[in-house]
Amino acid sequence: MAAQPMADGTVFQEKLGKSALAEVKSKGLLPVTREVSRQWTIEDSEALYRIQGWGEPYFSINAAGRVTVSPKGERGGSLDLFELVNALKDRNLKLPLLIRFSDILEDRIERLNACFAKAIARYNYPGVYRGVYPVKCNQQKHLLEDLVRFGKPHQFGLEAGSKPELMIALAMLDTLGALLICNGYKDREYIETAMLAQRLGQTPIVVLEQVEEVDLVINAAKQLGIKPIVGVRAKLSTQGMGRWGSSSGDRAKFGLTIPEIIQAVDKLRSANLLDSLQLLHFHIGSQISAIHVIKDAIQEASKIYVELAKLGADMKYLDVGGGLGVDYDGSQTNFYASKNYNMQNYANDIVAELKDACAEQQVQVPTLISESGRAIASHQSVLIFDVLSTSDVPFGEPEPPKDGEPPIVWNLWETYQSINTENYQEAYHDATQFKEEAISRFNLGILRLTERARVERIYWACCEKILAITRLQDYVPDELEDLEKIMASIYYINLSVFQSAPDCWAIDQLFPIMPIHRLDEEPTRRGILADLTCDSDGKIDRFIDLRDVKSVLELHTIKPGEPYYLGIFLSGAYQEIMGSLHNLFGDTNAVHIQLTPKGYQIEHVVKGDTMSEVVSYVQYDAEDLVESIRQRCEQALQEKRITLQESQLLLQNYERSLGRYTYLSPQSE
Ligand SMILES: *Cc1c(COP(=O)(O)O)cnc(C)c1O
Repeated sequence: MAAQPMADGTVFQEKLGKSALAEVKSKGLLPVTREVSRQWTIEDSEALYRIQGWGEPYFSINAAGRVTVSPKGERGGSLDLFELVNALKDRNLKLPLLIRFSDILEDRIERLNACFAKAIARYNYPGVYRGVYPVKCNQQKHLLEDLVRFGKPHQFGLEAGSKPELMIALAMLDTLGALLICNGYKDREYIETAMLAQRLGQTPIVVLEQVEEVDLVINAAKQLGIKPIVGVRAKLSTQGMGRWGSSSGDRAKFGLTIPEIIQAVDKLRSANLLDSLQLLHFHIGSQISAIHVIKDAIQEASKIYVELAKLGADMKYLDVGGGLGVDYDGSQTNFYASKNYNMQNYANDIVAELKDACAEQQVQVPTLISESGRAIASHQSVLIFDVLSTSDVPFGEPEPPKDGEPPIVWNLWETYQSINTENYQEAYHDATQFKEEAISRFNLGILRLTERARVERIYWACCEKILAITRLQDYVPDELEDLEKIMASIYYINLSVFQSAPDCWAIDQLFPIMPIHRLDEEPTRRGILADLTCDSDGKIDRFIDLRDVKSVLELHTIKPGEPYYLGIFLSGAYQEIMGSLHNLFGDTNAVHIQLTPKGYQIEHVVKGDTMSEVVSYVQYDAEDLVESIRQRCEQALQEKRITLQESQLLLQNYERSLGRYTYLSPQSE
């Protein structure tokens, strides 16, 4: 194939020779609109989408070119995700579809506990680890039920960050000896409820986050005659970095400053409750990318811990909060979408630092608590959605000009033909200038509409050729950097970013996104994703990359009549509850899948919102709406503006729609 220089620019590849091509290939940057000589393999897809980086050990690509899920990690058993989605569709579970793999959740809990167990053994730490799961990360009932069940062997507990979360945590946690960490703003009722839960056999720890809470706790303890377990949340001077960096430091929203902690100690001592103070907590933010930040925080906190013990508090627990990161881009760097450490490093640093700090001052080591949310809940859910259609700039070689076409078309054509690796930047200037000139002439009435169309068509062809060259360069001039975006296809996806991946929009978070099938085929297009909402922010145009961020994603051309499924991975933390009803796109369908010796079983199906449900959130009553349409039909019938048949069809569609999913049903399913 490649031996014959093709008029559309393949010739440039040849000029570059084999080694340059190999290099380009390794970067996953092959010019995408033309055929290549080498067969595309699943290894190419692995490298391109970086699936080993972020997916191991749960996600990989099989020989059939589809994403496979190994929910138990290295412990065996896997599913072809494409087949699973089709099987679920056959059960009338429409896309977009959120698939939760409970085995992954279990594996995450096992891993976290195993890492701490290993660190504790390695450093001969004379204490234990008792993790808790922060409910705010994903509050869904089925998930929390699983979590409590899987956590039982490790006495894994829960953390509540608000009153409603406390209500859930109190009712759900039935593991003997597991901790129930009570964070967030508290009023008298919150504190009383938490303390009374001691009588039910729970181990609630009330963490003081505000100065006012000290007196509330003291008064409640006196009135109830219950000796609470109390903690303090310290505002460390160690600052997290990045997005959640402001969770610590003196001006942080939560926690007590050092003078305030001393004041709390004094108050508790006066109330004869100093022995209730048993826990020190800090939280320096989520997704901590750099291990040195964690080390600094532990170092500072362990010193505070030791001092509190020396002040007479009956210190027993150190709660290091959340922050354990997820490697969304698989780069293992301190980039915000990654982390430069693994779970074992994290556990080691915590355990080692505390052992040393306590040994130095001859204080008993604490039971270690972490509140890892993201690291526990992210991997277990995968959101699958389909592409409805695409919009592309025209690709390939345009028709050459014919006699009688205006000079500007000829000039542009000449530019197009002359483009090579030496002059491409200059050619870009020329082409852009010709195009702008053509628009001026059109506006002056000198150029016809069809002629303008010709100019624009050849201009795109120039851009396509130039883009193919820039992709092979180490350095791309600034002015050409946007070409990739300009030439990108738009893939219209059956999804609302605001509902299903709100952090993409709100805080520019990156999630791995890739097709779940056709991975043995070269993705010859580059595109951005545009969602169903009529909001121009409802798009995804930032994608994970080894270096920094990509503005386009490599995708396949969609085939008429065949579905094209994409997945958003590692999206199990925070997205569901933060999602909003923009344009009234509701919750997606969700299923819980568990691996069985023979395959898998569907544990739960949580149907997404119907239109009746979403309209009711904004106070409409579906029956009233139907009635109003019925009356209008009646009126129109009387005035003979509609036939009886038409009115029946309208009413039928209207009523039926209200009972249906808010997303589109392509191919009239
Ligand atoms: C949000 C939060 C967590 C969870 O943090 P992750 O980074 O998701 O592990 C833990 N503790 C507190 C106090 C939090 O506010």
